[in-house]
Amino acid sequence: MCGIIGYVGPRECKQLLLHGLERLEYRGYDSAGIALLEDGRLTYTRAVGNLKNLRAEAGDSRSPATTGLGHTRWATHGGVTEANAHPLAAEQPEKLAIVLNGIVENYRELRERLVEAGHVFASETDAETVTH
Ligand code: GLU
Repeated sequence: MCGIIGYVGPRECKQLLLHGLERLEYRGYDSAGIALLEDGRLTYTRAVGNLKNLRAEAGDSRSPATTGLGHTRWATHGGVTEANAHPLAAEQPEKLAIVLNGIVENYRELRERLVEAGHVFASETDAETVTH
């Protein structure tokens, strides 16, 4: 279980995402994170623990982003660490971010194949296979 929120629209979305995650916090409180599309590049803020930590990390500064993604994690695969917090990215973090609710059941085989093909993983999660 986890909480997911995304926004694409005319409004600055940093605070919208953080507020939305607060309402979804009961769905996962191991870690939380947001990805914001700023000047054509994704930027990430992630924190372990409850949402207050993400709020502190994100700060009060405004972001021009009007597209973004947020997640509160209930860890199933991989420890409760910042590296395992979503949104997750792959080789081009400025271009692609994902969040996942649930489990990628065959992630071990997928990961093995991807590693053989030269992919480098940054987290221990099952979810990261999706980004690759
Ligand atoms: N299986 C994923 C993970 O542990 C997502 C868990 C969730 O639904 O929050 O990272």
